[in-house]
Amino acid sequence: MMRPPVFLDHHATTPVLPQVAEAMQPYWEQVLPRHKADDVFEAAKEQLAPLIGAPPRSLTFTSGATEANNLALIGVALAAPDNQRREILVSAIEHDSILRQDGALKRNGFHVRHIPVTASGYIDPAAVQRMVSDQTLLVSVMWANHEIGTLQPVTDIAKIVKSTGALMHTDATQAVGKVPVNVAAADVDMLSFSAHKMGGPQGVGALYVRQAPPVPLARLMQGGAQQALRAGTMPLPLVVGFAASATHMHENMTAMNAHRADCAGVFLEILQARGIDFDINGSVQNRLAGSLNLRFAGVSADDLLLHFANDMIFSSGAACRNGTPSSVLAAIGLSPDDISRSLRLCFGHGNTLPQAQDAAQKIADFIQENL
Ligand code: PMP
Repeated sequence: MMRPPVFLDHHATTPVLPQVAEAMQPYWEQVLPRHKADDVFEAAKEQLAPLIGAPPRSLTFTSGATEANNLALIGVALAAPDNQRREILVSAIEHDSILRQDGALKRNGFHVRHIPVTASGYIDPAAVQRMVSDQTLLVSVMWANHEIGTLQPVTDIAKIVKSTGALMHTDATQAVGKVPVNVAAADVDMLSFSAHKMGGPQGVGALYVRQAPPVPLARLMQGGAQQALRAGTMPLPLVVGFAASATHMHENMTAMNAHRADCAGVFLEILQARGIDFDINGSVQNRLAGSLNLRFAGVSADDLLLHFANDMIFSSGAACRNGTPSSVLAAIGLSPDDISRSLRLCFGHGNTLPQAQDAAQKIADFIQENL
């Protein structure tokens, strides 16, 4: 039987950890009485909350970070009083689940402006300072980027935003479980995250919403009232898996980061030792461990993807953009030609060091044979 390809795209999703699968198992097979299910649900919130330093009651489970981001932006817009603060600022390198809300926000009377980023993929708090005003309702700046892994100064930005009376949201989907995230220390009003980026199951995420002072937020989905901000039956196995992955990430963050960094380190060392000509897109210092976005000289990312389709999984942009060129790489100033030579890799808990070494050797072989 053919071996499955080695997964080198932990920005896209991550394999479910064995202990997470085990924790979920009983909940697929038995239906609990309502009060018992409620207890499990509440316990899961309590288990999850410390990972982001939030009170458990401030968490609303969603179907993922996409829904959490939509709830945050549209929910705030729909709850805002008429004719006041009609502007929303989002960074130019946000995930599509933020960027593609422009149309809906516009139809509801809001003007969305994009905060520019530097060539290294950094959102300068001074740029936010210049744009935010007493007309700004909400600012959304991600904690870590999903293509170039850059970490953003969310705490500094939140301070500026809050001083103008606007609300601050952060999409921390790529950061939670990998770097310390604390909603109180960062002073954000809302934060989105997702289980499947941290060893949990796909199909569940959460929105943290500050309780005091409360954030005015409209429900997007109408129906039952299992949660105040979101209707619909909660998928108990997924919620339990989400909580189990949070505990694992919380307890093993340092070791897992070291592993991710080691994999990326040996990968880069081999490419360099083999004399491969490449640049790293985005800041080298300020990024998530294990995250690499490499621009190769003379080789297109599509050729690499095609050649290694059965061997390795990496990508030429965000997994969900279906072949359209990366808006993140364009926003940091790369030309279409640069973008076509850029490959996104992210090492994670699904990888071993030998896999990272082997991937580098194979990519170096291919580039040397095809230049
Ligand atoms: N935000 C970011 C930064 C992401 O990387 C992703 C996943 N690609 C999402 C939001 C959407 O997450 P989900 O798949 O849970 O909807």
